[in-house]
Amino acid sequence: MNKIYYFDHAATTAVDEEVLKAMLPYFSYSYGNPSSAYTIGRKNKMAIDLARQKVANSINANQKEIYFTGCGSESDNLALKGVTFASNKKARHIITTKIEHHAILNTCKTLEEMGVEVTYLNVDREGKISLQELENAIRESTILISVMTANNEIGTIQPIKKIGEIAKSHKVLFHTDAVQAIGNMKIDVDEMNIDLLAMSAHKFYGPKGVGALYVRNGVEFKEIQDGGHQEKGKRAGTENVAGIVGMGKAIEKAYINIDEYNKKMIELREYCIEKLQSNISNLKINGSRDDRLPGNINISFLGKESIELLLKLDERGICTSAGSACNSDSTSPSHVLMAIGLTDEEAEGTLRITLGKENTKEDIDYLISSIMEII
Ligand SMILES: *Cc1c(COP(=O)(O)O)cnc(C)c1O
Repeated sequence: MNKIYYFDHAATTAVDEEVLKAMLPYFSYSYGNPSSAYTIGRKNKMAIDLARQKVANSINANQKEIYFTGCGSESDNLALKGVTFASNKKARHIITTKIEHHAILNTCKTLEEMGVEVTYLNVDREGKISLQELENAIRESTILISVMTANNEIGTIQPIKKIGEIAKSHKVLFHTDAVQAIGNMKIDVDEMNIDLLAMSAHKFYGPKGVGALYVRNGVEFKEIQDGGHQEKGKRAGTENVAGIVGMGKAIEKAYINIDEYNKKMIELREYCIEKLQSNISNLKINGSRDDRLPGNINISFLGKESIELLLKLDERGICTSAGSACNSDSTSPSHVLMAIGLTDEEAEGTLRITLGKENTKEDIDYLISSIMEII
C-alpha cells in the first residue's frame, strides 16, 4: 500500500494503537452485557465506569455527569432537545451561532418547527461572536445558549469562559459543542461555567460511533430515545462497551501530553503557513491567527477551485478537505465561510488542512510542493 499523507484530522483520526489494544477484549471474550448480574457482565459495567471517570477527569467533571452516546451528533441532539423538552416554560428560546456544525443547526431547525424560537448570532471576519450581541439576544424565555468551543472548518476558538459567565449571570444554561476542541485544548467545565458539553471519540484518536455528553449535576434534561434504563435512563440501548473503553483510553492519552502535542502542532502549522505564503501568491488564511486550534489551517487560493485541488492531491496520496468533510457531497458554499464574509470565489477556493500526531515536516514539504505543482 502506498503511503497516505493524512491532513484531515478534523474529519476523523486513526485509532491509536494502544486504544485499539484496550478495546480488543470487548469484541471477544469480554462480551458480557453490562446490565447482567453475573461476573462477566458486572466486569464490563466496571470497565464502562472506569472510562466514565477518565472522560470526567479530562474536563474536571464528576463521573456522574457523563453520559455515553453514539456520536457527537447524538450528544448535540440530546443536549438541545433534552433541555428543551425538560423545560416547562410556555415560550422557549435558544441562542446559537451561524457557524455551528449541522448537528446543532439542524437540531435547531427541528425545534423551530416545534415552535421553539432560535436566534443565530453573527460572527466577525475571524469567526468570533460578539459578547454584546449575545447579551442583547437573551430574553425572558431563553432556556439555552449553545456556542461551539472551536469551529471545525476554520478552527476559531470562542471566548467560552466569558460566554459561560454571561449565561450564568442571566440564569440561562450553556451548552458547548466541544467535538473539535476535546483533545486539542484544555477545558474545565467549572472554570468555564459550562452546563452541557458534547464530545466524540473519533476526533481524538478514539473509535468512531461513540460520544459523550457532559450534563452538570442538577440540570434537567429529558431522554430522546425510549427504551431500557442504561446511562441512568438518559440513553437507552446496550452500551458500546469496546467503544466506550476506547474513548476512555483515548481521552486519557490525549491529555497526558497535551502541552507537548499542541506545541508540536503549532510549530507544524506555522511552518506550513509560512511556506505556503512565501511560495504561493494570491492566498488568504481564514480564521483567527491567535485563537485557533493548534492543527487547523484554512486557506483560500484565489481563482482556484479547491475541489479540483483536493482531487489532484488525492492522486498523490494526500487527504485534505474542501471546506468541511460534512459538505463534501454538496456543492453549496460552506455556511461558515459565508458567515465570515468570504466571497463565493474565495469560498470555492478554500482548502482545509488539519494536522495530527503522525504528520512531520517532511510530509508538509511534500504537501506544499504538490500544491505548487498543481497550481
Ligand atoms: C465531527 C463533529 C460533530 C459530529 O460528531 P460525530 O461523532 O461525527 O457525529 C459535531 N460537531 C463538530 C464541531 C464536529 O467537528
